[in-house]
Amino acid sequence: MTASTPQRGEMRYEGKAKRVYATPEPGEYIVEYKDEATAFNAQKRGGWQGKGATNNAITAHLYPVLEAAGVPTHFVRKLSDTEQLVKAVTIVPVEVIVRNVAAGSFSKRLGIEEGTPLDHPIVEYCYKSDALGDPLINTDTALSLGWATEPQLLRIRELALKIRGVLVPYFLARGVKLIDFKLEFGTLPDGTVVLADEISPDTCRFWDAETNEKMDKDRFRRDLGGIEDAYAEMLRRVTAPAAEGRDPRAES
Ligand code: 5GP
Repeated sequence: MTASTPQRGEMRYEGKAKRVYATPEPGEYIVEYKDEATAFNAQKRGGWQGKGATNNAITAHLYPVLEAAGVPTHFVRKLSDTEQLVKAVTIVPVEVIVRNVAAGSFSKRLGIEEGTPLDHPIVEYCYKSDALGDPLINTDTALSLGWATEPQLLRIRELALKIRGVLVPYFLARGVKLIDFKLEFGTLPDGTVVLADEISPDTCRFWDAETNEKMDKDRFRRDLGGIEDAYAEMLRRVTAPAAEGRDPRAES
């Protein structure tokens, strides 16, 4: 028997790439992925038909992989091309970035060439604020300003590194280097910290393992062209079985 599709209620939130709707069930929301692409805090705008469906499909494929590895998430199930059902959470206003290879704002801030491998994964924290452009913070700031508690921050770091441990070999087995990625977490009414938001080429840097070609939103941010094809190729690789000859458990 297939589960019925809940009706969309009132819109609760609209972000740059998604809308969140209430459902008749108070503990569940519908997330709708939009076709819009934005960068540099929405100063640059674009998009294409099918972007929302691609990111929805990639996220809906990866969340069960993470759940199976013991990462609690907000994901319930995919509802349609552009919609998924999720558990209602209170979002922790701290964005978490995990870096495996120097790139983007890290390279710029510290003068380290893009592509330089990092000896240890780096976990960074930003305050989730469009008005302020998601500024870099540390965990003391989050604690002091009441954005998260100490146990929540410890759990978030633990989960972020666990997610890295699952995703790096997952992508490598599909010919993709996971350079860095951004995560958001939320809390359930009982206080459990769960992974929320999307994991997609909008929120990760993906480089082809052989050629280092960029397969993510940097193609849009940096006007490299070919973004639709890159996202479609990422969906194809994410949903493909692990390639033979590549050890899916190998860390990069
Ligand atoms: P950076 O800090 O180098 O710009 O970004 C690091 C990683 O986090 C990249 O994979 C980037 O896509 C992701 N990221 C950081 N902040 C945001 C954000 O506000 N929105 C999105 N979509 N991704 C972000």
